[in-house]
Amino acid sequence: MPYANPADGARRWARYYAAKWPAVLAQQQRRRRTEPRWWVSLCQMLDWRCFYCQKRKPLTKDHLIPRALGGPDEPANIVPACRGCNSSKGARLVHEWRPDLQCPCPDCMLQSSAAE
Ligand SMILES: [Zn+2]
Ligand SMILES: [Zn+2]
Repeated sequence: MPYANPADGARRWARYYAAKWPAVLAQQQRRRRTEPRWWVSLCQMLDWRCFYCQKRKPLTKDHLIPRALGGPDEPANIVPACRGCNSSKGARLVHEWRPDLQCPCPDCMLQSSAAE
């Protein structure tokens, strides 16, 4: 006789779900955090290459405008970068780090569109 008292059974279920749901939700969030759809399609668009060195390496999320400089934590400000480029760039803008690359920061974008 598992549940002689129905209320006891309900309490058990409540406890079971309270324990189970946070784990399920955390799992889903973890999956979403590692592979959001915009991220996958961005990587696909770039042929799974580093945005900076074009090499096919495990990709990390790099903030074009570093968080330290007030860049938003949003897809528009994030590009795939290999670990090497990501850590070498650090908290700098692309034009400060590698002036030879096209820098997508607002200042450089304005300059390049003014030059056309
Ligand atoms: Zn790279
Ligand atoms: Zn720039």
